[in-house]
Amino acid sequence: MKGPTTVAHWGRETGPFRVLLTDPIPAGGLAPLRDDDRFDVVERLGLDGEDLADALADADAVIVRSSTRITRAALARADRLKVIGRAGVGVDNIDVAAATERGIAVLNAPSGNTVSAAELTMALLLAVVRRVAAADRSMRAGEWDRKRFQGTELCGKTLGLVGAGRIGSEVARRARAFAMRVMAYDPYLTEERARALEIELAALDDVLDRADVLSLHVPLTESTRGLIGGEELARMKAGAIVLNASRGGVLDQDALIRALDANLGGAGLDVYAEEPLPADHPLRARDDVVLTPHLGAATAEARYNVAREVADGVRDALLAHLRGEAD
Ligand code: NAD
Repeated sequence: MKGPTTVAHWGRETGPFRVLLTDPIPAGGLAPLRDDDRFDVVERLGLDGEDLADALADADAVIVRSSTRITRAALARADRLKVIGRAGVGVDNIDVAAATERGIAVLNAPSGNTVSAAELTMALLLAVVRRVAAADRSMRAGEWDRKRFQGTELCGKTLGLVGAGRIGSEVARRARAFAMRVMAYDPYLTEERARALEIELAALDDVLDRADVLSLHVPLTESTRGLIGGEELARMKAGAIVLNASRGGVLDQDALIRALDANLGGAGLDVYAEEPLPADHPLRARDDVVLTPHLGAATAEARYNVAREVADGVRDALLAHLRGEAD
């Protein structure tokens, strides 16, 4: 339990490490910091401009989610700051170069939302193949139409993964439970790991040619931006389904719409080239796509896990600093 701050028992002269929180983070996940009197957790939500720069000047660590932007200007006077923790996967809202120049470590929480993102992918898949969203809309319109919503089974079908890292592997496990065959294009996945996951490794073209369902689980990088475009989608089987719960930029949205009109059977999307997806975007008008507003990590468990992962990281970084000071 947290007691009065007595500096003597951990030997630091300047008092506890001040950890600033500027976005809402589930309190339970922060127990590694809150329950230890070597850390003083201060919550000041929604800071920006000079207020943020002032607060950072006084902090040893800061934990943010998506709203706070840690810019070069915000770090201008952050002489005490040792670590920036991002409770999430990417670090898009942090000027990493500016932080590195000042010797500030930047860490994120890459695995806390893996299961949630994999489960959302399965939700999109089932919703697309059994037309759940369209049937629900029809029921709400007072209809009882059992002919329009014929679906297909997943059993015996081939799932093609593009990227089989943390989330892709969890999707593979779940697809295997549905008796799907799983193949993957992932140049960095070892044969050994693929065998353990019962995934067949293949070239991208091979995956595109054979997949009944293509699911994207790569990070957005120079090599993956626009990876799945018109040519790739045109190769796919008639009636095949495309899922994207990775990053919008990996899939060419205009090409997807053209492919849905040509060969594809449907799509399930959680992420978009532009977020929020514009209100009048043509994807919103289609019955053959299921759309969710970037909900992959939107579960209580993911929020807790991510908070816990970042709190552990910040704690380790500050304690390592303390040991460094003592040496
Ligand atoms: P990861 O790093 O564990 O896995 C990514 C995999 O992609 C790795 O195995 C890597 O080898 C592979 N890869 C990299 N470049 C590739 C390329 N050019 N071609 C093929 N494979 C390539 O990442 P993860 O945790 O599984 O996350 C995957 C994606 O999901 C990321 O884009 C992440 O941002 C996104 N994500 C989305 C949500 C959401 O809310 N929808 C939630 C969490 C993560």
